[in-house]
Amino acid sequence: MAYLITRLCIDCVDKGCVDVCPVECIYELKAAPTAELPNMLYIHPTECISCGACEPECPWRAIFEDRETPGILAEDVEINAKTEEQPSLFRVAKPSRDQQGRLLHRIKPTTDDVKANRRKWHVGD
Ligand code: SF4
Ligand code: SF4
Repeated sequence: MAYLITRLCIDCVDKGCVDVCPVECIYELKAAPTAELPNMLYIHPTECISCGACEPECPWRAIFEDRETPGILAEDVEINAKTEEQPSLFRVAKPSRDQQGRLLHRIKPTTDDVKANRRKWHVGD
């Protein structure tokens, strides 16, 4: 059992989840995104200790426990597993901070924003 990040994160990479992960198992792409590896963060399925800390931190509700992932997003389990299969493509994501140590890039979507993103990916409310 592990948590994973789904495509609901795509283009919303604010890294709030990274700040709370106790084992630094959330990764980002080293290179530009592709159709196979989109612009999102990824959880290493073996390194993740399933503490659940990241899930409530995600304002876009993009993080799921693997066994609770909606069927429409099932493919994302395999996409996250690429961090284990092709580690050279990824690096550990680091939270972006300003000089006072405050997190940058925190995006606070409205409820309607979150619903629209879920509709875009055909995920129910
Ligand atoms: S469940 Fe815990 S260990 Fe796994 S990615 Fe989230 S914060 Fe990190
Ligand atoms: S908090 Fe959510 S939207 Fe932001 S980077 Fe993490 S998974 Fe993506």
